Amino acid sequence: MPCESNPVNLEFPEISLKQRPTNCSNLFSYHTCAVAVNYWIYDKKRKTVVSSGSSRACGSNYNKSSVHAEQKAIEFCRTSNSRHLQIYIWRWSKLGKMKSTYCCRSCTQLVKKYGYENDIFTFNDITKEKAVIENPTLSLAYKIKYGLTD
Ligand SMILES: [Zn+2]
Repeated sequence: MPCESNPVNLEFPEISLKQRPTNCSNLFSYHTCAVAVNYWIYDKKRKTVVSSGSSRACGSNYNKSSVHAEQKAIEFCRTSNSRHLQIYIWRWSKLGKMKSTYCCRSCTQLVKKYGYENDIFTFNDITKEKAVIENPTLSLAYKIKYGLTD
């Protein structure tokens, strides 16, 4: 299923990179892209993506809290020696366009606790925006459970 699993124009954050990280297209899944949040951890000084991944909000398992992309990313940053890390999070549309995703209430607390609120960004199309917003919503899993996704 090459066309379903791999849209022709998969957008990625437009940042200064020495080289695009390998295996990034396989973060994409046609069937889960609406609920999957992808992340890159970017080292500003070395101009490289040092870690990437994706996290799928699990609607039916709302009570067993699913691990959010931000949580995974913060965990990575805390154990890294680099002080030059930025976190990029986004979702993909089924056509591979980047859609912004903002930190939920609990991730916002975590991000602020470790002082990453100015270093975490999301992308709306290719426009870079801050991922920590004034009034964070409940988690995506919560919205899926109650049918509040767009
Ligand atoms: Zn969250």
